[in-house]
Amino acid sequence: MKRQTLQTLVVVVLVAFTNLAGCLGDSLDEIIPERKGIPGGLTLACLTSTSYTSMIVEVDYEPGYKPLTSSTEMLIERLTSVCDKPDGISVEFQEVNFGQQGDWTAEDVRTKAWEEKSGSPREDSTLRWQLIFPAGTYTDASVLGVAVDASTIALFGDSIEQAEGPFGRPSAEDVENSVVVHEVGHLLGLVNLVYESPVDHEDDEHPGHSNNDQSVMYWAVESTDLANFIFGSLPNEFDSDDLNDLAGLADGSIPIRDQLWS
Ligand SMILES: [Zn+2]
Repeated sequence: MKRQTLQTLVVVVLVAFTNLAGCLGDSLDEIIPERKGIPGGLTLACLTSTSYTSMIVEVDYEPGYKPLTSSTEMLIERLTSVCDKPDGISVEFQEVNFGQQGDWTAEDVRTKAWEEKSGSPREDSTLRWQLIFPAGTYTDASVLGVAVDASTIALFGDSIEQAEGPFGRPSAEDVENSVVVHEVGHLLGLVNLVYESPVDHEDDEHPGHSNNDQSVMYWAVESTDLANFIFGSLPNEFDSDDLNDLAGLADGSIPIRDQLWS
């Protein structure tokens, strides 16, 4: 008899806790903003399909700043080659007006981008990364693109135009293609952002970047004077060291840190 009462009590308490958890969950979401993380904070969420089986690349651009089809197609190709997304990777375009006055800081990018996000970076089984293409330039106008948190990137079209080389070599299209893949490479944790590579390919003077000018993660790829540092065609692919890092992270042989989700 006493035992039965106890069981009833346990059930009642469990129900109460479940309700409480639901309420708390909702209210906490409203009070505490979603953690934004650092670039690389959603690397495993992309590389593996344990929790996220599909992915959306959200592209928010101001009028006149829509990225070229070649850039988004190349990006999807690169992501598909390294991320396990059995239910597919798709692109969602949205024309927006960010209403930014003056140059952009990293904090401006975070704030304005999050105002426009069409969904949470982690919603059910879908991972969402966002690329914004605003009018205007970064505070340092030689910066072509920035990765500001685990799911957010900005690319500065006016500066990308400026980076076109003499006689269109590299062309603004080449530059845009490379910078898009480069910044997404940072969201993939490259180079050494959320792990320690077993191979020494991080540039000593440019943390988070490759020392190989054949890698899209080469440090000069996000600067307007890239043509002064890269001879021949611009890299737009991950090199073997980058790919080996990603493979090691995916199979767990390289430890990873700072994940928003694990
Ligand atoms: Zn970079």
